[in-house]
Amino acid sequence: MSQVCLKSFSKPELEAWIRSLNEKPYRAHQIWSWMYTHCATSFDEMTNLSKTFRTKVAEIATLTSIRLLEKKNSPVSGTIKFLWECEDRSRIESVFIPEGKRRTVCISTQVGCPLACRFCATGRMGFFRNLQTHEIVDQVIQIQKEIGMALTNVVVMGMGEPFLNYEAVLKALDILNTPEGPGIGHRKITLSTVGIIPGIKRYTFEKRPYKLAVSLNATTDETRTRLMPINKKYPLVKVLEAIKEYVKQTKKRPTFEYVLIRGINDTPADANRLLKLLKNIPCKVNLIPYNSIQGPFETPEPERVQAFWDILRSLPFPVMIRHSRGGEIQAACGQLAVAYMNRKQTSENE
Ligand code: SF4
Repeated sequence: MSQVCLKSFSKPELEAWIRSLNEKPYRAHQIWSWMYTHCATSFDEMTNLSKTFRTKVAEIATLTSIRLLEKKNSPVSGTIKFLWECEDRSRIESVFIPEGKRRTVCISTQVGCPLACRFCATGRMGFFRNLQTHEIVDQVIQIQKEIGMALTNVVVMGMGEPFLNYEAVLKALDILNTPEGPGIGHRKITLSTVGIIPGIKRYTFEKRPYKLAVSLNATTDETRTRLMPINKKYPLVKVLEAIKEYVKQTKKRPTFEYVLIRGINDTPADANRLLKLLKNIPCKVNLIPYNSIQGPFETPEPERVQAFWDILRSLPFPVMIRHSRGGEIQAACGQLAVAYMNRKQTSENE
């Protein structure tokens, strides 16, 4: 009989599961607390449960389904990159990013990604499968255990496109947001999409409370399609229309992410077009200079970034320049998994 991972359950589902075992309802509360307050990874740690009960549940359930394979610390930024192995031996990664009082984790939602954005290491891996809810939740809980502190923020910006794995991702976020633990507030959770329009519409319709970020990266369909082939299916203007509807329905401000790539999308003409496209959308804009360690393009010089920002400054909302962190530990999404796969392939070929 295959074992169920308890991190795939919402709190009411865990309660129902405990009832189905003819156990007292408070057992669900005890297990939930061990999983999400104490980050227990084995039933033996649950010392306030009887040995008989622990043995019974350990036969039919597990607490974790990903195993730490590799960890890389950046002495410069404090960023830590985690590489995990799932039960089917596929590999995923997450990044811990400390920043003042914030302790953020960036998590993956798919093994690889089918969207093949040209600036992204994950895009070059290809697509293997969607992650399950418990594999998404467990990245956060295991990192919490590793660093020995509660995490304050979660960003869904790692490997994969979250709206292509909608149910599993949103269920994982709901679990992470559960007040009895892990208790990560909805304003501290951000989901980032490349602009999957049916996903944006559903997210809007369901009035999901988490923040939404859109990876824009270009101001014309030609450039955007070159960087992000999915733009052919969901073109720029249509994505922005869906976002305007999201703003109208939810009264929330999305964030637009714009990776500045030298000579591709960082000219004053691009900045002026971006200004025009966004001027009627209440939002935030993050400009992220491309890190050339990550792949085939070039990093813009600081003056070009500054000039781009100067043009956008007239927008009536925040426009920030953010630098991707942890380049020296391959913290761009998918890089550690790609490096691991390459190393493994090399050693297998030797
Ligand atoms: S940037 Fe995101 S959507 Fe694009 S290939 Fe990488 S993981 Fe996939």
